[in-house]
Amino acid sequence: MSTLEIRQIPVLKDNFIYLVKSESAVAVIDPAVAEPVLAESRALGWPITHILNTHHHADHVGGNLEIKKATGCTIVGPAHDPDRIPGMDVQVAGGDTYDLGGAQAQVFFVPGHTRGHIAYWFKEAGALFCGDTIFSIGCGRLFEGTPLQMWTSLKRLRALPPETHVYCAHEYTASNVRFALSIDPDNGALRARAAEVAALRALNKPTVPSLLAGEIAANPFLRADAPEIAAHLHMQGRDPVDIFTEIRKRKDVF
Ligand code: ZN
Ligand code: FE
Repeated sequence: MSTLEIRQIPVLKDNFIYLVKSESAVAVIDPAVAEPVLAESRALGWPITHILNTHHHADHVGGNLEIKKATGCTIVGPAHDPDRIPGMDVQVAGGDTYDLGGAQAQVFFVPGHTRGHIAYWFKEAGALFCGDTIFSIGCGRLFEGTPLQMWTSLKRLRALPPETHVYCAHEYTASNVRFALSIDPDNGALRARAAEVAALRALNKPTVPSLLAGEIAANPFLRADAPEIAAHLHMQGRDPVDIFTEIRKRKDVF
């Protein structure tokens, strides 16, 4: 039995970095920057032993080298993207399990936002670190992947236990909710989430992590195969990939 303690560090405009402590390791997930992470690590007395990266974007790996220099930590990242993760020591691929000091992280290959994106699922702790794949009530932009790839990736993550906590890398929920209501206006779970998000943001509190069950019920990108959305888009009977493509296209210009 392994436990996991998780601390959320908001940085830059809307990024979240996570510090994750297992029995004998402390990992930073997607360090956009170094200094706030090193400060939090000192404040908690959690010496950093690892960095886990989900993808190569600067707002996810920007602190890699400075944290490695300060701590000597091991950098774990996507084998699917060997040349774009600064300082990567260990490459992991979809289907792998990585032992983080006694806590097992299952690795999923989830291309779409980038071509090498991975996610880490700590099954026992019920925690999913999905980078820029799922956001609360949204999903990452398709910078390097196709709609089919992203839809396939989202379906893979959607199949995890509904009680999974989704630790995404950005606080985009309020604007995601506004868009989602434009294509799924009668969804009660979405309307409830909208109210909850408005209340949290009014207090300047994070809306992340969220429960996967809530995302399955209210996130339009996880609902591209829901009949209500097809009906609203006048796309009844169409392939969910086409519907996902349309939802993503509309969000890009919302
Ligand atoms: Zn990104
Ligand atoms: Fe990002």
